[in-house]
Amino acid sequence: MTADRSKELFERAVTCIPGGVNSPVRAYGAIGIAPRFIASTAGSHIYDVDGNAYIDYIDSWGPCILGHNDERIREAVVRASERGLSFGCATEIEVEMAEFICAHIPSIEMIRMVSSGTEAVMSAIRAARGYTGREKIIKFAGCYHGHSDAMLVSAGSGVMTSGVPDSAGVTPGCTKDTMTAVYNDLDSVKQLLEENPGQVAAVIVEPVGANMGVVLPADGFLPGLRRLCDEHQALLIFDEVITGFRLGFTGAQGLYGVTPDLTTYGKIIGAGMPVGAYGGRRDVMEMVAPVGPVYQAGTLSGNPIAMAAGLTQLQILQSDPAIYRKLSEMGDTLYGRMAAYVKDQQIPCQVTHIQSLGCLFFTEHPVTDYASAKTADTARYAAYFRHMLGSGIHLAPAQFEAMFLSAAHTESDLEATFKAFRGFFEKQ
Ligand SMILES: *Cc1c(COP(=O)(O)O)cnc(C)c1O
Repeated sequence: MTADRSKELFERAVTCIPGGVNSPVRAYGAIGIAPRFIASTAGSHIYDVDGNAYIDYIDSWGPCILGHNDERIREAVVRASERGLSFGCATEIEVEMAEFICAHIPSIEMIRMVSSGTEAVMSAIRAARGYTGREKIIKFAGCYHGHSDAMLVSAGSGVMTSGVPDSAGVTPGCTKDTMTAVYNDLDSVKQLLEENPGQVAAVIVEPVGANMGVVLPADGFLPGLRRLCDEHQALLIFDEVITGFRLGFTGAQGLYGVTPDLTTYGKIIGAGMPVGAYGGRRDVMEMVAPVGPVYQAGTLSGNPIAMAAGLTQLQILQSDPAIYRKLSEMGDTLYGRMAAYVKDQQIPCQVTHIQSLGCLFFTEHPVTDYASAKTADTARYAAYFRHMLGSGIHLAPAQFEAMFLSAAHTESDLEATFKAFRGFFEKQ
């Protein structure tokens, strides 16, 4: 397996793109080799510019749940593009998209399309602040909500009443109203709410943590957040950019039976096109311009090509429950076998999973929050990643990311993946 062409492209890229990549996680920074440049994809496979084929578990970070380059979505995009790429005016398909989501997701009474998950979260928070007239936000350490200034707060080691910027270029003023609680720890949320009476606009959470590896909500955590928000008249925002339309059509909120006030979407809702959305209670969404005083806009929002891709994917997912059954079964098979193997062999690793999302943590400690996730040995993960890549398995180049199964994965893909995984530990 050679990587000459990828190396050559990376050398060119670093001279003209910061770090050679347009998003940092692509840089293989934690891995110590040049990233693979991708030429094409199909189904469960991704092909690099040197002609290597890999079974892919990045899945473009989640959007391609039906598999890469699904023919039905591609056809919808081609047909839409024949009518024009962008109008900057209202279109029928935007109405269809909004009606479809409102019809099938009980918590969504109104929805607004944007162009990324970052934008969806930023806008939902603005709407929550506009609605409540309050300034503070509670987020959880280890949950990622895009790269808007107010969400880039450092995790700290426990409850933080005032966010410290986690990035250069973010001013303390931008993060001072962002407080950080501990995932799966309701007391940490209660404490922040009680210390800031009448000041918290919203609690935002990934209902299943999928950006610190995969961290499941403990029993009672999500209902507890709902209760605390109600007690303190704060809004509950579920960031379902990953989990939405993945953990079943109604996402984590359907799976856990907890109704947020607002929900943010991204990834699957665009099927690989740049799309995000935020929606929820009518009275909150009616705060948004031009109905209400909360300003939010976007030149390419509701873009007709992106809507064609996203709506086609959502319609397929909604009409065929067998897809989610298959994803769940495959997840139980692959991640279940991995978990059983590390247990049998007494390997100090944790396998977490829910349906199609899974993660192998190189730590002996059960992972329930950001602090326990951070006990993972990232150098071991890097070695594991290189072994898997060499075996034709394409994983996220960082420990704290999920593995994504798509409906296009096959039993033989899972078998090959498990064999490569086992091969890593047998070599040790
Ligand atoms: C990916 C992600 C975002 C950001 O979405 P972008 O489209 O990358 O801006 C926000 N929240 C969660 C939970 C995500 O996984």
